[in-house]
Amino acid sequence: MGRFPPLLWLILIGLLLLPTPAGRVLLDLAGGLFLTLLALPVLLGGAGWIGWKILQSRIRTCEACGTSTMSSEDRCAVCGSPLPKNQKGGTSAQAVDDSLPASDVTIDIKAEDVDP
Ligand SMILES: [Zn+2]
Repeated sequence: MGRFPPLLWLILIGLLLLPTPAGRVLLDLAGGLFLTLLALPVLLGGAGWIGWKILQSRIRTCEACGTSTMSSEDRCAVCGSPLPKNQKGGTSAQAVDDSLPASDVTIDIKAEDVDP
């Protein structure tokens, strides 16, 4: 009952080996399933990475006690010290002081002739 009849196996192999439209459909179906199985972990990994980045951008760490929190409150729930503002882009954006206008921080470069 549980065994697959040998005649059906022969028909299946014949469909796969012979260049018939039914065999092409079976091969295309198998190829599509294979591609889906290959692409699924990549897609899930990408979605997970994006979700992790969004989560990471929302997490704020208390400077006094080191507690990480996702709450939108201004104060740490553990020690009560003020939390830093939600820095976007991680530590690199934190280092840039955007209180100054860009024209004030422009570096002037003078050309000089250097004798060899
Ligand atoms: Zn704290």
